[in-house]
Amino acid sequence: MKTDVVIIGAGPAGLTAAYQLAKAGRQAVILEKSALVGGISRTERYKGYHIDIGGHRFFSKIGAVNDFWHEVLGDDFLVRPRLSRIYYNGHFFQYPIRLFDALSKLGPVESLRVATSYLQAQVSPYPQEENFEEWVSNRFGRRLYEVFFRTYTEKVWGIPCREIKAEWAAQRIKGLSLPVAVRNALFGSQDVKTLIEEFHYPRQGPGMLWERVHARVEAQGHQVLLNHEVVGLHCNGSRIHYVEARGPEGRSLCIEAEHVLNSMPVRELIHRIVPIPPPDLVEAAGRLTYRDFLTVALIIDQADLFPDNWIYVHSPEVKVGRIQNFKNWSPDMVPDERTTCLGLEYFCDEGDALWQLADAALIDLAKQEMAQLSLVNAAEVTDGVVFRQPKAYPVYTGEYKAYLEAIKAYLATISNLQTTGRNGLHMYNNQDHSMLTAMLAVQNILGEQHDVWSVNTERAYHEEVRIPHQNGHVKDILAQEAALSYLKD
Ligand SMILES: Cc1cc2nc3c(=O)[nH]c(=O)nc-3n(C[C@H](O)[C@H](O)[C@H](O)COP(=O)(O)OP(=O)(O)OC[C@H]3O[C@@H](n4cnc5c(N)ncnc54)[C@H](O)[C@@H]3O)c2cc1C
Repeated sequence: MKTDVVIIGAGPAGLTAAYQLAKAGRQAVILEKSALVGGISRTERYKGYHIDIGGHRFFSKIGAVNDFWHEVLGDDFLVRPRLSRIYYNGHFFQYPIRLFDALSKLGPVESLRVATSYLQAQVSPYPQEENFEEWVSNRFGRRLYEVFFRTYTEKVWGIPCREIKAEWAAQRIKGLSLPVAVRNALFGSQDVKTLIEEFHYPRQGPGMLWERVHARVEAQGHQVLLNHEVVGLHCNGSRIHYVEARGPEGRSLCIEAEHVLNSMPVRELIHRIVPIPPPDLVEAAGRLTYRDFLTVALIIDQADLFPDNWIYVHSPEVKVGRIQNFKNWSPDMVPDERTTCLGLEYFCDEGDALWQLADAALIDLAKQEMAQLSLVNAAEVTDGVVFRQPKAYPVYTGEYKAYLEAIKAYLATISNLQTTGRNGLHMYNNQDHSMLTAMLAVQNILGEQHDVWSVNTERAYHEEVRIPHQNGHVKDILAQEAALSYLKD
């Protein structure tokens, strides 16, 4: 086959690129290894229940992304009320933290410890913030770090906070500190309030958006080939000559293209380039790591269990990290309003004991933990199903930055290949940033020059490009947003 552009992956980045290319009148073939579109932002279905791979809140400061969402979803793009709380030490704390709520639940002794340890951190902070623990302790004090940051972060990443680069915290919680948090808790601001209290969400989950984009790009002449895994990118000199995919029953398909846009994990991308790149580069790619994730969906014979969209479970005595209540995201996520579907999220590593546990055992574990937290009566659970998501999170540890720089320099030598998206750039991108990278890559094909790698490493890039009215106030909102999304995903 021959085409203008081969797109690897039909997640948000790949489908955004396809949509933009169709608008520009260019031809594309999209190769997707799974049977569903949407990637990590897909919505699975089970007996009429819609289940996200982690609830996906739609929020963006990027005008082009907001326009895209509204254009595709129209009236199905709902504005939903938000409630999320943290479960810790037998209490539910409001999230984002509300000062008086937190103080009353922590009690006077613990509150005093928090204040003292904050003052201590101001008098003698870590001089060089190397890791997450030091970065957070300097801004919030050691005690608050232990209560609100450590256990959940360690559940998510599966490693001690001292092994997580300070840079990750800086990207996710930029601009926030205890005084700012207290100030916001006391005074707030109208914009921040809006952001905290509501969010956008497609009527039947994020998959609804990506299924619509899929239908539209096909109607506009693109080919979307599901169940086609890209196994080789064959170079001729400094260009990709053709892309090789393996389809159903192992059938091989080769496609020549003028341009290739990738959104598969960059580690796999490097390992699939032919001829094989230099050994040090292959090794660098092999050293990039990921955190994996599984959701146990429980169907419960109860109409109203709790009002939250999701609950963060900081308590170390249970393995579950977060609980989604899908009908509170949108009532259309369940087929029968007398029932509830909860998504219990477990962070793990592909192949570890939890990942390998049989589905029935995972459902039992989920039931038992829900009963332990007194959220569900196990006898009312009528059914369950498990979805596993490999490479949910690119991990920022050790020397990852140096490896990524080497990979970036090497990829720049292949003139018709661009990599985009979350794992395609090994960057902790939400949907909007993943989409923006794809939009910029398409602009590059159409003759512009953008550095796709700059998106989200420096928020100023995204602010400059997409937000015309800059002032200190907007920056403050972004800092809040970063703080919210820290715990969000
Ligand atoms: C738990 C969780 C919660 C999240 N919550 C939010 C949220 O609230 N809001 C938000 O905006 N974002 C959220 N995100 C982030 C969001 O899911 C991602 O930013 C987004 O899905 C990334 O899009 P992508 O296209 O870059 O990658 P992906 O979604 O990973 O899509 C890549 C696609 O490429 C395919 N692929 C991989 N390898 C190959 C191959 N060799 N050949 C062919 N196809 C291949 C995959 O099957 C997949 O479909 C969350 C993420 C997680 C893990």
